[in-house]
Amino acid sequence: MLGTMMDFPLTLQHVFERNSKIFPRVEIASRLPDRSIARTCWGTVHQRARQLSSALIKLGMKPGDRVASMMWNHSGHLEAFSGVPCAGGILHTLNLRLHAQEIAAIARHAEDRFLLVDDVLLPVLEKFRAEAPFEKIIVVPYGCGTVPDGFLNYEELLAEAPSEFSYPQIDENDGAAMCFTSGTTGCSKGVVYSHRALVLHSFAEAMADSMGISHQDTVLPVAPMFHANAWGLPYTCAMVGARLILPGPNVDAESVLDLMAQERVTFASGVPTVWLGVLQALEANPGRWKFAKPIRLACGGSAPPEQLIRGLENFGIHLIHLWGMTETTPLATLGMLKRHMLDWPEDRQYEARCKQGWAGPFVELRVMRRADFSPGEPMPEGVECPWDGITPGELEIRGPWIASQYYNAPEQGHRWTSDGWFRTGDVATIDEEGYVRLIDRAKDLVKSGGEWISSVDLENCLMGHPAVKEACVVGLPHPKWQERPLAAVVLKPAHEATAEELRKHLAVTFAKWQLPDAIVFVEAIPRTSVGKFKKTELREQFANWNWTQ
Ligand code: ADP
Repeated sequence: MLGTMMDFPLTLQHVFERNSKIFPRVEIASRLPDRSIARTCWGTVHQRARQLSSALIKLGMKPGDRVASMMWNHSGHLEAFSGVPCAGGILHTLNLRLHAQEIAAIARHAEDRFLLVDDVLLPVLEKFRAEAPFEKIIVVPYGCGTVPDGFLNYEELLAEAPSEFSYPQIDENDGAAMCFTSGTTGCSKGVVYSHRALVLHSFAEAMADSMGISHQDTVLPVAPMFHANAWGLPYTCAMVGARLILPGPNVDAESVLDLMAQERVTFASGVPTVWLGVLQALEANPGRWKFAKPIRLACGGSAPPEQLIRGLENFGIHLIHLWGMTETTPLATLGMLKRHMLDWPEDRQYEARCKQGWAGPFVELRVMRRADFSPGEPMPEGVECPWDGITPGELEIRGPWIASQYYNAPEQGHRWTSDGWFRTGDVATIDEEGYVRLIDRAKDLVKSGGEWISSVDLENCLMGHPAVKEACVVGLPHPKWQERPLAAVVLKPAHEATAEELRKHLAVTFAKWQLPDAIVFVEAIPRTSVGKFKKTELREQFANWNWTQ
């Protein structure tokens, strides 16, 4: 055989080791619950993470054991992002915003042996501790500093751990981290990320034509570290040695803007609802926040309305639109402009940026048509056809950082095709430039008399109206049409609009049969645990809607 390159494992051990040698003095700033800022650096995080590795092994952690965390975004959590996987464990970031019983069920399903928990989150833990599987609970001083009897004290464990610790040998395909999907449309399912996937995903995020994160950046992950590992950013920042600003529990628009301005953030990430609030705060308080440098903003998790992308640009904030899933680590596509598009008129450029964009390297996509995933002419159940290039179908994906299964959930096997692709459950088209356009989640499409109506398109058009702050569209059962759309709308403060006016606004873009039959004004739209519009709850709220009213 021809001798080629060394067989060198792609593990997080190497990422963090290199980081500590090259970027030890780069700052990590964490905002505490009292809003003061605690400052440390990558070098100290690394040293403490090693002590955590050593302490966990002393406590009996074996390769592949799940160590859960229930923590906000702060440097202690970052220590776990390094210390657990580098010692051969799997860091399972629990979604602390879920219902207590759901967290307990997820922890049991994941068979979490240990738990790292912020002191300020002990009241949340108390609600489900009796049903949780944890053998040992380690309390991390973050806010109140109290460690009640019966719990292990993180600081004491670290202080007792020998500073000399050599990493165990790890295979690049070993598990490193675990997240459950945020359960927007159904029950949460677990995904285990390998070292190799996280390393390759970090390269992909750092690429200039991707998020372009470099050592020069100051990165603010607003997306929680339990939502797809804060979209992989802690690992990408460790790889490039970026400065990190971790926001803690306060992520309302003003608190986010304060951090962006005071800490001279150059890159931030979060779901559209966060940035809708941020844009509104910027518009309502001219001149209050001044940014030293232009800011790039990764936005995904649901579709950002065009008005949001346009509006932020006026404040020197460039939104990078991305699509991904917990199952895709999460970065899969980016909606950026290609070089020839820079000559396009502005409107056309924004139209392109609203698309979910092109696949990252090693990410392969295809659209498949099935009876339950394509509108129009009837197709027999169970039959699938290659895409006709026009009719929306189900988006399928494969690649080195795409999940090959859910953790311990064989009943979900149907989400993978027999030829090895993951079925996203999203309905999409791919244009001649290779840009994915997500029409909707299959479960959220409004199925009206054999045709489909995209709830996302209606929402984004409504949010383009100057009086509308937020809009969420759901399909409700209809006696004649199977389903018809209802739009719930939140108006901007001191703005007015009638349902008729909003229908007229929509009618410029949509056919009459696509217009919502009902537009209702509400105080707020329910959110999921990661801040997306919670359509399941809205559907329940209007379950008994009377179309004749
Ligand atoms: P959940 O499915 O529980 O919300 P995730 O947070 O992993 O869990 O969400 C992944 C889903 O979010 C995708 O399948 C897609 O429906 C939606 N999504 C992610 N990014 C975008 C985007 N840019 N535009 C529209 N939808 C998106």
